[in-house]
Amino acid sequence: MTKYLQKCKVCNKYGLANPDSKCRHCGAQLVNPRPPKFSLIDKYWKYRLEYFKEEFDEKFK
Ligand SMILES: [Zn+2]
Repeated sequence: MTKYLQKCKVCNKYGLANPDSKCRHCGAQLVNPRPPKFSLIDKYWKYRLEYFKEEFDEKFK
């Protein structure tokens, strides 16, 4: 199902992929969004990394 969803690059709304790849809200072009899961993991991983670094520094100084 997710592979049929595309994101409008103008209004950032998600829409179903159609032959024209046009946003039904504003008529702009729909593009394939980046898989959100990956960016979320990246975000959390960065936070975790920083958190662990701080904890590590405190414990082993
Ligand atoms: Zn749009």
